[in-house]
Amino acid sequence: MPNSHIGVLGAGVVGLATALSLQKAGYKVTLIDKEAPGMGASFGNAGLFADYARVPFTKFSIMRKLPEMLLDKTSPLSVKGNYLPSLMPYGWEFFKACFRDRYEYGKAALKSLQNISPQADQELLSLTQTQDLVRSKGCLGLFATEEGFASARNGDLQERREQGTNLELLNPRQIRDLEPDLADFYAGGVFYPDTRFTVSPVELSRRYARHFTEHGGVILCDKVQTLLSGAREVKVRLSDSTLKFDQVVVCTGVFSKEILQLLGVRIPLVSERGYHLMLNIGTKSLTRPVGWLDKAIFLTPMAGGVRLAGSAEFAFADAPLNQAHANTMLTHATTMLGRAPQIQSTWVGSRPSTPDSLPVIGKLLRHPRVKVAFGHGHLGLTFAALTGKLITECVQDKATSVDLQPFSATRFD
Ligand SMILES: Cc1cc2nc3c(=O)[nH]c(=O)nc-3n(C[C@H](O)[C@H](O)[C@H](O)COP(=O)(O)OP(=O)(O)OC[C@H]3O[C@@H](n4cnc5c(N)ncnc54)[C@H](O)[C@@H]3O)c2cc1C
Repeated sequence: MPNSHIGVLGAGVVGLATALSLQKAGYKVTLIDKEAPGMGASFGNAGLFADYARVPFTKFSIMRKLPEMLLDKTSPLSVKGNYLPSLMPYGWEFFKACFRDRYEYGKAALKSLQNISPQADQELLSLTQTQDLVRSKGCLGLFATEEGFASARNGDLQERREQGTNLELLNPRQIRDLEPDLADFYAGGVFYPDTRFTVSPVELSRRYARHFTEHGGVILCDKVQTLLSGAREVKVRLSDSTLKFDQVVVCTGVFSKEILQLLGVRIPLVSERGYHLMLNIGTKSLTRPVGWLDKAIFLTPMAGGVRLAGSAEFAFADAPLNQAHANTMLTHATTMLGRAPQIQSTWVGSRPSTPDSLPVIGKLLRHPRVKVAFGHGHLGLTFAALTGKLITECVQDKATSVDLQPFSATRFD
């Protein structure tokens, strides 16, 4: 088995972590991406290893707020009209996942990943010697009103605590002690002491890629056109050539939906676009990521500036950047900082999002030589290392460290 040649399609943070894990297990690995490593969604994230993210988004309370949020131009949530038909299967599955038993099932599944994710991260960071890109300073989540804070304390935060998240509730004085350069816009907040963040998501991907090639891995820059899975091999057709692999892992982020369609598997995966603005905040500084949770934005101190990240725009992956979203985010950041920062750059990219907030990880039963690892939504950086480990266990045909049933590609059938 270790002589097998594995093709990993997609060199985002999930594909890179998967390729590295397979390589470490002794496989010959070829990584294929149409772009340079780490230039998809993995380029632009907020940089958090979000240990606190242990509850799915699927709540009837969120569904009830949808009409109001969609009408509010300053809400983080928006839908592009021409994307509505593509959202229908997602919306139906989202609705079904809101029922109590499915919601609890999703919570247990997220917790099962979170329980062992930090260990997998440490192993990958130490293998690739990238610890210098990660900071362990915790993270702050703030609320502007006492009402919002109280409702989170009795709801979402309580639920996270029951899920095993390490968190401390903070009053305004304690927040000021942690981040004195923030403006006084908050009524209270939460501190997650175990959250880590990277100061450069793209540099992390590049260093993963470098380690991979320095240890014999091959990276091809080409677009996967089709996939043919047979009894003895998987053929991957690129622009001008066809490669044969013993096994293939699909890690093509939001584009995985089309690739799986070629294999007859339908996944209600959608493009949930997020924005970031790199900011120069002048003489002010932040020590750790700070979220304004009512507005769903984060400010993360990174190499070369502070990254303002957020927004959930359901739109085609190649739709133009909507400047109005970026402007709204900047207005919120100005409130958080007490003065307008300078914009260095603006970016938009697509989170590969599933309706039940769970990634798709594991084997494809009808195509035993194809494995899948995509759909990580808001948590691709957080779960990348663990995903690589789980996929390696699947390729080795071993019992997996986490029960992969909740993450199966056929759960929406
Ligand atoms: C604004 C924002 C903030 C975020 N913040 C966080 C955060 O703080 N923490 C966190 O954990 N997650 C966060 N996320 C989510 C995270 O970035 C994603 O879940 C993650 O990057 C997905 O990684 P991926 O490797 O699956 O996809 P991608 O990074 O998109 O990689 C997929 C790759 O596949 C390649 N590809 C696609 N189709 C083909 C083809 N046909 N042929 C060849 N190559 C192909 C693409 O070029 C791409 O490089 C955030 C996302 C956004 C947008």
